[in-house]
Amino acid sequence: MERELHIFNAGPSLLPREVLEDAAGAVKDFGGSGIPLLCTSHRSKEWNGLMDETRALWRELLAVPDGYQVVFFSGGATMGFLLAAMNFLERKAAYLDTGIWAHKALKEAQGIGDAYAIASSREDSYNHIPKGFVIPHDLDYLHVTTNNTVYGTEIREDIDSPVPLVADMSSDILSRPVDVSRYAMIYGSAQKNAGTAGVAFAIVKTELLGRVSRHIPTLLDLRTYVDNGSMPNTPPVFPIYVMNRTLRWILARGGVAAMQASDELKAGTLYAEIDRNPLFEGTAAVEDRSVMNVCFRMAAGNEGLEERFLAFSQECGIVGIKGYRTVGGFRASIYNACSQDDVDALVKCMQDFEQHIS
Ligand SMILES: *Cc1c(COP(=O)(O)O)cnc(C)c1O
Repeated sequence: MERELHIFNAGPSLLPREVLEDAAGAVKDFGGSGIPLLCTSHRSKEWNGLMDETRALWRELLAVPDGYQVVFFSGGATMGFLLAAMNFLERKAAYLDTGIWAHKALKEAQGIGDAYAIASSREDSYNHIPKGFVIPHDLDYLHVTTNNTVYGTEIREDIDSPVPLVADMSSDILSRPVDVSRYAMIYGSAQKNAGTAGVAFAIVKTELLGRVSRHIPTLLDLRTYVDNGSMPNTPPVFPIYVMNRTLRWILARGGVAAMQASDELKAGTLYAEIDRNPLFEGTAAVEDRSVMNVCFRMAAGNEGLEERFLAFSQECGIVGIKGYRTVGGFRASIYNACSQDDVDALVKCMQDFEQHIS
């Protein structure tokens, strides 16, 4: 008999079963047209309808105000690092250095112009979000990484800032309402909460585009995507389709407020077990704990049990809780598609392990 699996991969991550089944069917027959999605022209009426609907879903789910455009591009959030700097960095930008992704975004910007870390928790292995820094008024933007996928820390509120924010929200987008009006650009890759790998999204304040003096190559210029309906060249049709169905799924379940409620319940359940179970301890500062990526390790004195717990968790049908390769320990990614049942199964596995070794 097939054993039930509980997938906690950080990305590409779990997708809702309904989305997987729908996408599997569409590969062979796109929307009842008889034409496989993978063989559909991106210039067809049907495809254009799907693009329009996908943009509209983003707008509805995040209450995107007028003056902003939703665009899709390839190259992942890593390409977003470059797009942000290319399109918005003229004089100076500050970056909040909260993890390896934030750090890579900063490094990329430094290849383009004047960018610096306004605060950093690098010396503390990025186990918390720096606080108390003062944001100068003369910046083009402040860049933040709202969820630090590798370390399990999160900024769950829109920062008060005298300058526009640019945010990599790859791993917590669509898990809470966002005040889009504070941002010049919100971007991320799809494979955490918005679909599968191969497409990235950006929500862009259009009046801030075209203000930099550098020449921007065509596919790095956000205006290209705005002006061409995100199809300046052939778009990644399958990942965009999966994104569409993922957004529909979120809307049908009550939108981001409903995601927020269930995500916070799941995270609460898992952190409670980490704090209760003497074998384990959380690695992130309690006040900065991520609702999306729950990072933990064997508590002091039990370090030797790490491999045994990993093997044990596999027996429980738990997939993907090994921590990031440079960090170690465990990480359970509990994005929107992860159910309370999945989290309960992990908690039970931790409790069974406690029994098992005592
Ligand atoms: C996964 C992730 C990235 C990298 O995304 P790619 O699609 O691999 O470029 C960047 N930032 C954050 C916060 C992430 O979680």
